[in-house]
Amino acid sequence: MDGIIWFQHKLFHRIPVLWRLHAVHHADRDLDVSSGARFHPIEILLSMVIKVAAIALLGAPAVAVILFEVILSGMALFNHSNVAIPLSLDRWLRLLVVTPDMHRVHHSVHRYESDSNYGFNLAIWDRLFNTYRAQPEGGHDGMTIGIKSHRDEKQVIWLTGLLTLPFHLFSRQPKKKTEKHI
Ligand SMILES: [Zn+2]
Ligand SMILES: [Zn+2]
Repeated sequence: MDGIIWFQHKLFHRIPVLWRLHAVHHADRDLDVSSGARFHPIEILLSMVIKVAAIALLGAPAVAVILFEVILSGMALFNHSNVAIPLSLDRWLRLLVVTPDMHRVHHSVHRYESDSNYGFNLAIWDRLFNTYRAQPEGGHDGMTIGIKSHRDEKQVIWLTGLLTLPFHLFSRQPKKKTEKHI
């Protein structure tokens, strides 16, 4: 299930119409626990359809599904939090789970950074599929979080702005294919 969620997240970055929905999650200019619950309702609905299909396909028992949902939601809140974990501990933790430092890279305004670290729970998927990026180029204190074309408060903080954000036309930063993973 966690692998499917990872793949779904990557799909929302790759397919332009899905990116418009997912952009609501990325428009936040600062990360904290609340960012972990900040998704466009249509993205939540689509995600639910994918999850239900995956559960039916896997034939997963109800207890396992509930447990997975509780862990996933808890982990999403944890890795969007602005808690400062000592680097020495983070290094060990991220061998198993996605830490706040690891997920913060994914919220960079630079596409070559936001197109990495798709995991919300287990850290293995990004290492396995070569989308792992250890740290942001500008450092955690120097990096810019959000979407470059969407910095206006009315669009990225107000509820009406967020709900209508997918319907506004905007261009995405081109990929930098030459960038190497750190
Ligand atoms: Zn994302
Ligand atoms: Zn996120």
